[in-house]
Amino acid sequence: MTDPPLRRILHCDMDCFYAAVHTRDDPSLEGKPVVVGGDPSGRGVVAAANYEARKYGIHSAMPAAQARRKCPKTIFLRPEFKLYREESQQIFAIYGEYTPLIQPLSLDEAFLDVSEHLAEFNSATEVAEDIRRRVREERRLTVSVGVAPNKLVAKIASDFRKPDGLTVVRPHEVEAFLAPLPVRRLYGIGPAAERSLHEMGITTVEELRGLSIDRLMARFGNWGRVLWERVRGIDDRPVHTHRERKSLSTERTFAENVKDLDEIDRILDTMADEVAKGLKKRHLAASTITVKVRYPDFTTPTRSHSLPVPTSDAATIGAAARELVRRTDAARQSVRLLGVGASNLVPGELGQRTLFDDSAH
Ligand SMILES: [Mg+2]
Repeated sequence: MTDPPLRRILHCDMDCFYAAVHTRDDPSLEGKPVVVGGDPSGRGVVAAANYEARKYGIHSAMPAAQARRKCPKTIFLRPEFKLYREESQQIFAIYGEYTPLIQPLSLDEAFLDVSEHLAEFNSATEVAEDIRRRVREERRLTVSVGVAPNKLVAKIASDFRKPDGLTVVRPHEVEAFLAPLPVRRLYGIGPAAERSLHEMGITTVEELRGLSIDRLMARFGNWGRVLWERVRGIDDRPVHTHRERKSLSTERTFAENVKDLDEIDRILDTMADEVAKGLKKRHLAASTITVKVRYPDFTTPTRSHSLPVPTSDAATIGAAARELVRRTDAARQSVRLLGVGASNLVPGELGQRTLFDDSAH
């Protein structure tokens, strides 16, 4: 058996990305609690809170109204995804100068494999330092970076000295680095697995390491084997550089033309569900929803709507589709084909819970 090649992985994670972009562009926000998200007087939620806001116990996914109660002087900003997307492209372009092996996890987070791409640098640590310097100087933003032999440890490491931190975990330091962490920090351990482990009296990675592979597999099945590896810092998952997908859509041609609007709505909901599943499977969210209809005379108009927040939520996509179909002649004319499409895709699953509950029904 040969050892797997030694990888040098960076996990780059922008600090409070959305709020940081706004604060850079409007220095009057400096030092103030800032929340990006929905309307605090409606049912919107917090998408991102800066560190000043977090001091008041404000965090993402919290209702914006609750955030305002926690700190009335919080400044609430509506998200501007176009701005974040453009900024993200600039930052990823910097990463791209160091390695072609980039796996984006969201607009502000990526794995970089620099194993074969150290070029003039002596170490992955130097690459990380250079990336941090360039993002600071060229984008006037800060990025926290974790450097490690694999993705599991790099991701935990980037969070270790946030904000504006660099944490390097060398191969021989991996076990000691993981040992004191709560089990929840291991990739793949959700609330259910955590509860199950707590029942076994296990709260830290070190305690978890004491369990045999047989015991873990008895409790968790095949996942137990993965867990056994993870607690030892073993993670051979490569950095995936998937080709960028531009859009995702589904359509249906009917044996008999459809004219009833309720039926059209039901069909659109089913298709929205398929599109949402496709997006989730690929860890993508869509900023634009399109509906296509074909009339008996074969004319095929489309209608599109840009969402304030990218989504992979079936209900949000369905609602948009139903609204769009009402801007066509469907139901006045019968239709022989319906289609629902999602485009302007971004990585991540923002908008699972829509920020605009008040406007998106
Ligand atoms: Mg981030």
